[in-house]
Amino acid sequence: MPVIVTKKAGTCTAAGCGGRIRKGEYVEYVAATGTRHLECAGAKQGQRPNLKAGTCRCGAAVAPRQGSLALKETVRRGRRRKVWLVSCLACTG
Ligand SMILES: [Zn+2]
Ligand SMILES: [Zn+2]
Repeated sequence: MPVIVTKKAGTCTAAGCGGRIRKGEYVEYVAATGTRHLECAGAKQGQRPNLKAGTCRCGAAVAPRQGSLALKETVRRGRRRKVWLVSCLACTG
């Protein structure tokens, strides 16, 4: 995947990110999908980089950009909800 330096500010096209991309930032560019943060481009499907501090299910505090997020769908009273669960490095494996 080609990595480019952006010539103008834009928006990350990765699902679940949508964050800002600054001018001069290194990004991955794919004609079909547009520009993505490097950390978003490398994320596995169904996972995205953890950009906020959170708490893992084991109780460990997870700093931003450490660990990972996994999308989990829960159904409560017939309603589907999607929640991102933070996992620390030890639990991510
Ligand atoms: Zn992104
Ligand atoms: Zn954990």
